[in-house]
Amino acid sequence: MKVVVIGSSNIDMVAQVSHLPAPGETVGDANFMQSLGGKGANQAVAAARLGGSVTFVTSLGNDMYADILKNHFKKEGITTDYIIDDVNHPTGTALIFVAHSGENCIAVAPGANYSLLPGSITHFSEVIDEADIIVMQAEIPYETIKKIALSAKQKGKKVLFNPAPACLIDEELMKAIDILVVNELEASFISGIEYTDNNLEKIAETLLKAGTSNVVITLGSQGVYMKNVKETIQLSGCKVNAIDTIAAGDTFCGALAVVCAKKEIDQEALNFANTAAAIAVTRSGAQPSIPTLDEVKHFML
Ligand code: ADP
Repeated sequence: MKVVVIGSSNIDMVAQVSHLPAPGETVGDANFMQSLGGKGANQAVAAARLGGSVTFVTSLGNDMYADILKNHFKKEGITTDYIIDDVNHPTGTALIFVAHSGENCIAVAPGANYSLLPGSITHFSEVIDEADIIVMQAEIPYETIKKIALSAKQKGKKVLFNPAPACLIDEELMKAIDILVVNELEASFISGIEYTDNNLEKIAETLLKAGTSNVVITLGSQGVYMKNVKETIQLSGCKVNAIDTIAAGDTFCGALAVVCAKKEIDQEALNFANTAAAIAVTRSGAQPSIPTLDEVKHFML
């Protein structure tokens, strides 16, 4: 299962504070943590831990984080041959304040992620040729996502697109997407239909009419809903002790990509992704929470 992930890498800098600083205020009692993130990187790590042969295309900046990230990806068994070194920008960074109350505020500096433009991907054709499935999210320029998806479609390759953060998708791109994975908020934003408890089918039909072949709507603790022209599948969420939902969606996408690389989406594939994502919410952090294939198999016994 050859999975090519094209997307963002970020360094998450997290300050845990007693309260969020007001404009002009300094809060001096913070605890600091640094972790590796970015939806692209999280999904690449998920696909690799869950049995995929993964190539990750991302753009890293002119700082010490570039080497740290490359080494980290290699340790995860990810092919890093097509990673771009952007000498003009810093590596993508998310600056996060989390108050003891749980409230947070976040500033994302995309840095090198925004220079992941079609022209900067060396061996563009080769990257697409080697994939069984191409996986993208919306933290890189839209024009890159579109160019890759159209080219992949032309070559008969599958495309899984997770439009997070939510972005509008034009008709041409929508028609090139085999599997669209969205949460409720993204589904509402893209379909233009506000999500309620009983209109999943209407939202999914609208997205199918827009051109994608399979719509997958993740529903947090409620599990997942999938619709295509042949069937509708809904699975409840696994009963777990949820601690932290960071990277749940990314784990879901990475897992689904591995199982759908060489076969059509079905109940078994959705069950695998639903289980992998449920395990991720039982642990804190982004990438540290992503399970291995053995852990998912064991959970499913
Ligand atoms: P996102 O993180 O992108 O908003 P969701 O919150 O919908 O996505 O979560 C993605 C998937 O993670 C869900 O479809 C489900 O499989 C799993 N998941 C999330 N929260 C829970 C939970 N509390 N219990 C069990 N599974 C969960």
